[in-house]
Amino acid sequence: MNSIDRFLELKAKIPANVEIVAVSKNRPANMIDELYRLTGHSVFGENKAMELAEKYNGLTQSLHWHFIGHLQTNKIKYIAPFVDLIQSVDSLRLLIEINKTAINNNRVIPCLLQIHIASEETKYGFSIDEIYSMYDDKNFHELSNVSIRGVMGMATFTSDGQQIKKEFRSLVQFYNILKSRYFTDHADFCEVSMGMTNDYQIAIDEGSTIIRIGSGIFDER
Ligand SMILES: *Cc1c(COP(=O)(O)O)cnc(C)c1O
Repeated sequence: MNSIDRFLELKAKIPANVEIVAVSKNRPANMIDELYRLTGHSVFGENKAMELAEKYNGLTQSLHWHFIGHLQTNKIKYIAPFVDLIQSVDSLRLLIEINKTAINNNRVIPCLLQIHIASEETKYGFSIDEIYSMYDDKNFHELSNVSIRGVMGMATFTSDGQQIKKEFRSLVQFYNILKSRYFTDHADFCEVSMGMTNDYQIAIDEGSTIIRIGSGIFDER
């Protein structure tokens, strides 16, 4: 099967209220263009700022771009003019810099808070306590040009479905706590981004609103 067929097969299985981000990192721009032209799918995810900026510049303006990787503060400027959602905000320092760059670009940048749910230490993200401290910090409340839309998390890379389920459940729990503590009157704090090629079914069962699928669309499997 090619990526078009794999995408269409995936799309047919996914509830309409779950957004698919086609993770196109390390894939050439022409594959993105082809998927868009033949399916109309327009939401893509990238994890490197320069690569994302190059693809943005080379492709149609109709595409929507999510940033899903670790973002260094000196790279924000490459994506700030156009990025639709930064899914991987993992520190207050980064959020403050995104806000500054958003002001310079005269726009509001939607963001998700990446939360650490995996047992591996290598995955980036806030702990829930770090988020509470962020809310106690007055700098956080002065951010005018970022809009926090929800949370993102990555489960441990394991074949143990029970563990993955537990981790996704903890992310939804964090989301609910944040929603009730800080976002009760923010209707646009509504996203839980979880689920990749190997675990999206569990993620959807646990309440994901955004899945991020790379190899399940773009690779022969
Ligand atoms: C690469 C990547 C994905 C997609 O992973 P696949 O297993 O290829 O579907 C999703 N989320 C993040 C943060 C990634 O870096």
